[in-house]
Amino acid sequence: MDGQQSEHNATNQPDDSCVLILGAGINGCAVARDLVLNGVPVVLVDTNDIASGASSKSSRLIHGGLRYLEHGDFELVRESLEERRCLLRAAPHFVRQIQLFVPIENRLGGIFQSAARFLRLSRLASWLPSRTRGLYLVRLGLWLYDRFAKDETCPAHKLYRSGEDNSPAVRADRYR
Ligand SMILES: Cc1cc2nc3c(=O)[nH]c(=O)nc-3n(C[C@H](O)[C@H](O)[C@H](O)COP(=O)(O)OP(=O)(O)OC[C@H]3O[C@@H](n4cnc5c(N)ncnc54)[C@H](O)[C@@H]3O)c2cc1C
Repeated sequence: MDGQQSEHNATNQPDDSCVLILGAGINGCAVARDLVLNGVPVVLVDTNDIASGASSKSSRLIHGGLRYLEHGDFELVRESLEERRCLLRAAPHFVRQIQLFVPIENRLGGIFQSAARFLRLSRLASWLPSRTRGLYLVRLGLWLYDRFAKDETCPAHKLYRSGEDNSPAVRADRYR
C-alpha cells in the first residue's frame, strides 16, 4: 500500500461517532485495541501503512523502561513494567523472556554522572569524564528495577563473574 492512504475500520461498521485515530504505529494500534475491547467504534487511518514508521524499526525489546531509572523517572518505569506484565499476560505467544548480559568493567564507573543526571544537573553531568557504568551503579539500578517489576514470572537480575558457567565469553583482562 506504499504511497497510498490506507484506512482500517476496526469494527467494520462506519459510524459517525467513531473515534478517529491518526497513525497506525504501535501506539495508534494499541489505543485502537483498547477502545475496541471496550466497545468503542474506531477508525484507524495511516498516511502510509500499519507499522510503517518507527514501529517497523523497533528491536522489539519490552525493556520495561530500565534506562529511565537513571533520570529518576520512576513513574515511567513503573508504567513500562506494568505494560510488560500486561503483554506477558495478553500475548504470551508473541512475548517471551530473553536473557541479556550487561558487561561491567569497573566498580565505581558512572556514579557521579548518574547522580548529576538524577539531580537534573545535566550541564555538570556533561562536564564529568565519561566512564562506562560500573558494578555499584548497575546493581543499584537493577535492584530498583526488580523491586518495581513485582513480577514473579520474571526472574530477578543475577551477577556472573567472567568465565562462570552459563555466562558469555568475554575478554578476561577487561571484564572480571
Ligand atoms: C532503531 C529503533 C529501535 C527501537 N527499539 C525499541 C525497542 O527495542 N523497544 C521499544 O520499546 N522501543 C523501541 N524503539 C522505539 C519504538 O519503535 C517507538 O517508540 C514506537 O515505535 C513509536 O510508535 P508510534 O506508534 O508512536 O510511532 P510510529 O510507529 O512512527 O507510527 C506513527 C504512524 O503515524 C503515521 N502518520 C504520521 N503522520 C500521520 C498523519 N498526519 N495522518 C495519519 N497517519 C500519520 C505514520 O505513517 C506512522 O505509521 C525503537 C526505535 C528505533 C528507531
